[in-house]
Amino acid sequence: MNTIVAGNWKMNMTLPEGRDFISGLQEYLQGKNLKSQLILGVPFIHLPLSLGASEAGIYLAAQNCSEHSSGAYTGETSAQMVQSTGAEYVILGHSERRQYFGDTDEVINQKIKEALQQGLKPIFCVGEVLEERQQGRQEKVVHTQLERGLAAISPAQMEQIIIAYEPVWAIGTGETATPQQAETMHWSIRKHLSELYDLHVAEKTPILYGGSVKPENAREIFGMPNVNGGLIGGASLKLDSYIQLIELAEETV
Ligand code: PEP
Repeated sequence: MNTIVAGNWKMNMTLPEGRDFISGLQEYLQGKNLKSQLILGVPFIHLPLSLGASEAGIYLAAQNCSEHSSGAYTGETSAQMVQSTGAEYVILGHSERRQYFGDTDEVINQKIKEALQQGLKPIFCVGEVLEERQQGRQEKVVHTQLERGLAAISPAQMEQIIIAYEPVWAIGTGETATPQQAETMHWSIRKHLSELYDLHVAEKTPILYGGSVKPENAREIFGMPNVNGGLIGGASLKLDSYIQLIELAEETV
């Protein structure tokens, strides 16, 4: 499976800054034939840049969408609107959405269904908080998030879904799961997918690791057998470090 290098800009980058980043990345990609797959999770305002970017092999993701199709939901953005920009992906269930915006497993499940309905590919985030890991409950917590978030999602729909394992204690903290901790959880997620679905789904679903990935630690993490790439926050904000991550990913595919 090709390594996926997915950035998450979170609430950063003005429109000119986003344009500069993407045109710089397009320039870097000229004449290159990458094996890894590039996705950038960007604020909604940048999504129209998808149109020029995908030709260069840069795919954009929204960082959220509404669980509703349309209507009187002031300030919300629907999956159909995201899709109409040319974006291919949407990050759903990010721990910051769960923590600050009340996205429950059930709401996330609705959003995943709505996104799929509109032809978007969800990047579905799961992960435990520090206390849950200290209590040794991390696998149980992640399995429950998977069961609830993927409720009534068919094996065929799973072909459109990427899972991102993001231990909450490692996001934006500088603390990274060890490559072995990541591998253990990724293996456990794959095993659980084989129980919820079948071996085919378990093997074909890309599982990204997220949580303070940076050029200094990416090689080891990307090299783990059940890690198919990264969802990267801080280190995706600077073009040079994002490019370094791409180059490390290229070494592992
Ligand atoms: C994220 O935003 O999903 C993330 C993992 O952030 P960071 O890489 O900054 O920890």
